[in-house]
Amino acid sequence: SVAARVDPLASLNEPQREAAEHGDGPLLVIAGAGAGKTMTLAARVARLVLGGADPNRLMLLTFSRRAAVEMQQRVAGLLQASLGLPAGAAPVLPWAGTFHAIGARLLREQAGRLGLSDDFTILDRADAEDLMGWVREAQGLARAAETGSARFPLKGTCLAIYSRAVNSQAQLSDVLRQAFPWCAHAEEGLRGLFRAYEATKRDQHALDYDDLLLWWAELMREPDVAAWLGERFTHVLVDEYQDTNRLQAAILLALKPQGRGLTVVGDDAQAIYSFRAAEVRNILDFPGAFSPPARVVTLDRNYRSTTPLLTAANAVIALAPERFKKALWTDRAGTARPQLVAVDDETAQARWVVDHILARREGGLKLKSQAVLFRTSSHSAALELELARRQIPYVKYGGLKFLEAAHVKDVLSILRWASNPRLRLAGFRVAQLVPGIGPATARRLLDAMDAHADPAAVLQAFEPPAAVRGEWEGLAALMQRLSAHSEWPGDMALVADWYGPHLERLHDHPVPRRADIEQLARLAAGHASRERFLTELTLDPPQATSDEAGDPHLDEDYLILSTIHAAKGQEWSAVSVLNVIDGCIPGDLSTATPAQLEEERRLLYVAMTRARHHLSLMVPQRFYVTQQRRFGDRHLYGGLSRFITPEVAEHFDSIGPATPNWAIGPPTPPPGAVLDLARRLRERW
Ligand code: ATP
Ligand code: MG
Repeated sequence: SVAARVDPLASLNEPQREAAEHGDGPLLVIAGAGAGKTMTLAARVARLVLGGADPNRLMLLTFSRRAAVEMQQRVAGLLQASLGLPAGAAPVLPWAGTFHAIGARLLREQAGRLGLSDDFTILDRADAEDLMGWVREAQGLARAAETGSARFPLKGTCLAIYSRAVNSQAQLSDVLRQAFPWCAHAEEGLRGLFRAYEATKRDQHALDYDDLLLWWAELMREPDVAAWLGERFTHVLVDEYQDTNRLQAAILLALKPQGRGLTVVGDDAQAIYSFRAAEVRNILDFPGAFSPPARVVTLDRNYRSTTPLLTAANAVIALAPERFKKALWTDRAGTARPQLVAVDDETAQARWVVDHILARREGGLKLKSQAVLFRTSSHSAALELELARRQIPYVKYGGLKFLEAAHVKDVLSILRWASNPRLRLAGFRVAQLVPGIGPATARRLLDAMDAHADPAAVLQAFEPPAAVRGEWEGLAALMQRLSAHSEWPGDMALVADWYGPHLERLHDHPVPRRADIEQLARLAAGHASRERFLTELTLDPPQATSDEAGDPHLDEDYLILSTIHAAKGQEWSAVSVLNVIDGCIPGDLSTATPAQLEEERRLLYVAMTRARHHLSLMVPQRFYVTQQRRFGDRHLYGGLSRFITPEVAEHFDSIGPATPNWAIGPPTPPPGAVLDLARRLRERW
């Protein structure tokens, strides 16, 4: 049956409609959480398409792949309803994705023009870190670190510094001074390291995440390319604009120098990515970047949360200084106030949260409509144990990335090396999968790579230790087949078959790892080619490896666990936030400057505004923080987060099995804990 035709703007309120119907001039929609920014953006896209815009010429930039997919679904739903299409007859949809994904797509198209080879490999963070470590070692900087003589930053810190400098387009010396003061002495070494790192990437036809933005921005510096792309995309629309960085803003300005066809939406009170060089100034400065200035539409009606929840969230953010003032109101009734729940410790917290989630499920609320949020991925450990024990399926966002797991990297390295023989990092890893081959031998092998064009030839020409000859030839035969004729997804099966017998020797916990390899094979089957698969997997990694509770099937009901950062833009009927205590929110390493503290406050605001009907902030009275592994320190924290001042707490019901002990006000961390750590960090390097 043909559905009735519906106006896609029918459900919008007045300012939302104004934004959706706005013409071509630059437009900023700024509003607090749950005011319908994302929904308005979707309606605007639908309206543009209905007004005759070619969907292929609309570019929709979101903060995650998940958000892009959701947005496309919303737009599709609106279009279907308004065009009266039968369900299933999907209209053509706009380009939607993250800056990185769309950058990758454009760069592959334009590779020739950039002097890039179009077979470039995209390195994920873990690969980039390995490559940085490799170069650091090659330059002798690692040895200095080991002996303690020069205290050169570790590879992860080097990559963080590099990434920050690239994304903020700032001088290295400024980045060091502002964000990594304890590395300032290493400036010269870092400069050399970064030069060598970039040369190595070029040499190996590899781009890291930052390059996807950097090269895209570079591409936009060519006036004819910028003009052509600006015309090709009649409209560029950006969600979560407050968390874009300088490079991203530069790309947008180059695409739309006059702002014609440029729409951005966001909320400065939800800026939580400055540690990745996001600049809230982007959104504050947007109107004035054009002349005449951009149209600014503000939305002040919240459709997400009930009054008591919204009041509490407003109270938290009202204490933040100098923000673009927004007071949200809602007419969503609701008498249940948010809860501050005192529990003894993390175990009790996990039990309480699970008990109440199950009680709500009894009451008819699906697990999928509930979420548990936390500051740091590791904070969910006790909860995950409890969920596994009670066999409750869950999916975790923002945790250990699937791709960072060693066994997944093993398998992908084989495929990557086959598709880009220059990728030494992959070859290095692959060689060491053979029993008895260590880094020294693998390194010798790589020296042989200069002389040979493809992995199979490199392996065949190499003289391995006699004891492993058989295994070695097996690997060479595999690489031979992969290079000779790529058959997709057949290649994946070949690799999995070869890898299977090695898995147990290489890694502990083989059973869940085997399940991951199977998942990889399933994912492979969903992609048209090896290259497509590798690119999309890198840009849009599945979030977590299979867990104890088993991998929930999509049609099954499951609970969402997420870091607050990864929960941006989403909503659930019931939300529990773990560890709302000093040391966690704000994090113990994020209290050094007022700016860091403010970002932590916004983080709590983001967490609270994800909830529609039920919100519980959990407050364990005892909490042990295990500091970064290499220090082995355990610190005891206690006490309510300093953001829940007595005035804010009045908007909550204080409950819980433990006797609340939050009269202590903003608690002090154990003497010296924070400073101590900073000192030791410096000493370490
Ligand atoms: P965030 O800042 O968290 O990203 P947002 O401003 O993008 O929030 P949306 O996610 O677009 O807000 O909308 C929040 C909720 O309000 C959604 O469930 C959406 O469907 C609903 N909503 C938005 N506008 C309206 C409206 N005019 N009528 C009814 N519901 C609406
Ligand atoms: Mg949104």
